This record gives sequence, C-alpha cells and structure tokens, in this order.
Amino acid sequence: MMKYVSTRGYEEELTGAQAIIQGIAPDKGLYVPKKIPELPFDLKDMVGKTYKEIAKPVIGAFFDDFTEEELTYCVDGAYDDKFEASNVVPIKKASGVFFLELFHGKTAAFKDMALSILPYLLTTSVKKENEEKKICILTATSGDTGKAALEGFADVDGTEIIVFYPQQGVSRVQERQMITQEGKNTHVFAIKGNFDDAQNGVKKIFNDSDFAKELELGGIKLSSANSINIGRLVPQVAYYVYGYIKLLEKEEIKLGEEINVVVPTGNFGNILAAFYAKTMGIPIGKFICASNENKVLTDFFNEGMYDINRDFYLTNSPSMDILISSNLERFLYEIYGGDTEAVKDLMESLETKGKYSISEDAKMRIENFYGGYADTETTVETIGKMYKDNKYLMDTHTAVAYKVYDEYMKQTRDKNITLIASTASAYKFAESVAKAIGIGREGSGFEYIKKVSEKTEVPIPKGLQNLEKKEICHRRVIEISEMKKTVSEALQ
Ligand SMILES: *Cc1c(COP(=O)(O)O)cnc(C)c1O
Repeated sequence: MMKYVSTRGYEEELTGAQAIIQGIAPDKGLYVPKKIPELPFDLKDMVGKTYKEIAKPVIGAFFDDFTEEELTYCVDGAYDDKFEASNVVPIKKASGVFFLELFHGKTAAFKDMALSILPYLLTTSVKKENEEKKICILTATSGDTGKAALEGFADVDGTEIIVFYPQQGVSRVQERQMITQEGKNTHVFAIKGNFDDAQNGVKKIFNDSDFAKELELGGIKLSSANSINIGRLVPQVAYYVYGYIKLLEKEEIKLGEEINVVVPTGNFGNILAAFYAKTMGIPIGKFICASNENKVLTDFFNEGMYDINRDFYLTNSPSMDILISSNLERFLYEIYGGDTEAVKDLMESLETKGKYSISEDAKMRIENFYGGYADTETTVETIGKMYKDNKYLMDTHTAVAYKVYDEYMKQTRDKNITLIASTASAYKFAESVAKAIGIGREGSGFEYIKKVSEKTEVPIPKGLQNLEKKEICHRRVIEISEMKKTVSEALQ
C-alpha cells in the first residue's frame, strides 16, 4: 500500500485518502508519496486509449487505497463534457512543437484538470475515513486556482469553500469569474496584498492549531485546494503520461524515445507533476522551467540558490507572479533522496533568511532542468509572432513557455520532440493577447474578448461568454491581517 509522509519528517504515515483530507502536515511539511509508483501498464498497450482510460490507472497507482469503483466514480465525474474539447486534452502542433492544451475545462485554465477531480477525491476520502466534520476548503489564488476550485466545490454537500485573491494581482476576467460565482457554500474575498501574502495568510491559518481546535468544536475541518494538497498534484501526472502516449500514437516518437517538456511555472506544481511522470517511467529528457520577471526559479536552476530577497513584479502572466513556489519543497525531498532533516533545514532557512542553497549532490540531480524567463514585452511579441506565422493563439503564460523553449533551442539545438504545457485559453488574458495581435485599445476588458474572437475566429470558451453580464455575488475587500477573522465569520 502507498504511504504518504511529510517532507519535514513528521513521523505519522498516511494513506492517500488521509493525506488528501489533511492537506498539509502538522509539521508544516507537504505530503509526498514515500516512494513514487511505477507506471501501472506497458505504454505500448495504452496507445489508442481515451484520457479517462489513461488517467484512471495513473491516479490509482498513487491512491491505491481507492477501490476500482471509487476511482471510476472520481474520473468519470471529473472528465466528462464539462471539458469542451474532445478527449479532454487536445495536442496541437505549431512551429515544430506540440502544445498540450490543458485549458478546455470550465474555467479555461489548466487548474481545471486537477480541480474538477479534487472534490470527488476529497468527498470519497471523507467517506472512506468516516470523517464526520464538514470540510472547509481554504484557498489562496493568483487567479486561476480560485475560480477552478469554486467551480469544483460549488454546492458540493459537506463542503464550504473560501477563496482569497490579491486585489491588484489578477486579470479583470479572472476577477469577474470569481466574484460572479454562484453556490451557497462559496465565499470570495479580495485582499490588500499580493499572492504571496494571500498564500502565507492561508498557510498561517492552517498552522494555527488553536484555531483548528476551535473550528473542530464547531464541526469543521480545514483542507486545501492549493497545490499543497497531494490530491491536486496526482491528477496532473496523468496528462503527461497521456501526452507521451498520444505522441506515440501519432508516430511522432518511438517507444522509449525521450521527449522534453516545457512548463510555465509559478508554484512548481505542474512541472513537478511532469517530474513524477518521469520517475514513474515516462522518458523525459529535459524539464524546461519557464518563469516571467519573477524569475526566482530561473536563478535557482542556474545557481542552486533560492532567494526571495528581490523585487516583486506584477506581469501580464499573473498566475506566475509568485516568489515562494510551495511545491519546490516536494522536489527538494526528491533531490535529497528523502532526507527530511535536510528539507526541514532548507525550509527554515527560507523562513528566516528568505533564501537557501542546495548541496553539491542535489545540484547534480537538477542537471536535467533548464530554467529561463521572458519579460512582459517579450511575451506580447511572442504571442504576436506565433499568431502571425502559424495562426496559433497562445495565452501569456504559454507564450512565456514558448519563448524560453525558443531560447533553449538556440543554445542547444536539442533534437528531442518537445511538449509544451499550454496552461490557459488566450481569452483569459484577452487584453494582452489583443495587443499582441494588433488590436487597438478598447473600452472595457471584456470588449477585448469580442475583438480577439472576431479577428481570430478561435471559439470563446463557454465560461467566458457573457461574463460581464453576470451578477456580482462577492464584493468584500479585506486587510491581510483580517484573513483569520474573515474565515471565522464566513463559517458562522
Ligand atoms: C497556475 C498557473 C500556472 C503555474 O502553475 P504552477 O503549477 O503553479 O507552477 C501557469 N499558467 C497558468 C495559466 C496558471 O493558471
């Protein structure tokens, strides 16, 4: 049976279901599989299978405490016609690379891949563990997680969902998506701070054991929909496995041939999922980690030092405006060979000094990672050029990834077939995209959606149609210091 342990060494070992309910470990560590499982099938036997047929055994390999029926229930419930693309994740080729389009779910960003299944995994876990308390999902968002979590959990019995987003740090479309969310168990608040403030505030609440006791007396247990929850991460592994199998199916690669993956990265969840896929047995050569101006990860991969003592920028790829990449802690656990003492020391150093350096051994283990970044202006140019040359429309995050890939190729002339994680619909960042493809200034943020659609004829995702006409249900803006109080009030 798979066991989950804290990255910081807390002695208790949990099952998958228990780790999903817990969210974060009592010692503030993140739950990781003690050992990452191997692929549960021969890749060649999976050619021609559907997304669900591939995702189910991959997720099941991690959560082997779930029965076959439970897994079927979760996977079937999640990846149904909520996804507007046939077979959930289309792969498009443009300019010699393959785009793994992860954004065809309800909220038009890749977060739907995990957050459409998390409510099923969580409610199933609650049943398995005979947990009687109501689960309150507490989430900090840089824009996309919040909406995807709200969609996933709205009106799910036995749950409440509370989302905090940075008032100045999300796009207009992202904000409107969240504040128009319906559902009697949904609560959305803007905070006067940036994403790291929101994430730190939420982490503080999770680590406040007195507060947890108080809530438990009221019959409530906190859990997380952020990628600190292992139930978020595991479903993401599935699409890299799927991507590899589809490339085999299209005969773009031969069985066993290595591919490179490029991932626009913020909290390090998505790229970590690719790393887990490799550990399971998917042949991946290079991991290309792409950042915007908040390039703390680029520097980490180049220098082996993680240092958040730097300016923070608001960019046109807001879902990556992050300095503290939470999931890097899980990666450290891997590159330190499961040495939880070492991980704990590094995290303490991050908390006290805002930085840490990794050992020479660990540096050797990150050699298959390449870090690069693209700034706001370059991102816009990249979208424009791709559209002009190939009629392929990228969002700002995907464009950051493409640009870093382009730089990498210029330096290395690597021959591997490359898969780029395409993380959002261009319409989610319509204003930047409009500018990139030569549309002039428009009145409101939403007119850009219309203009981009008229010019490109790329269909507008359902969830973004008529957004400006929807009723606003959430209006509160709070101070960072009021987050805990706000949680109490929302749960009254
Ligand atoms: C969240 C997000 C990212 C970053 O993903 P991480 O898993 O946090 O690294 C990139 N692009 C988009 C559009 C996102 O929503």
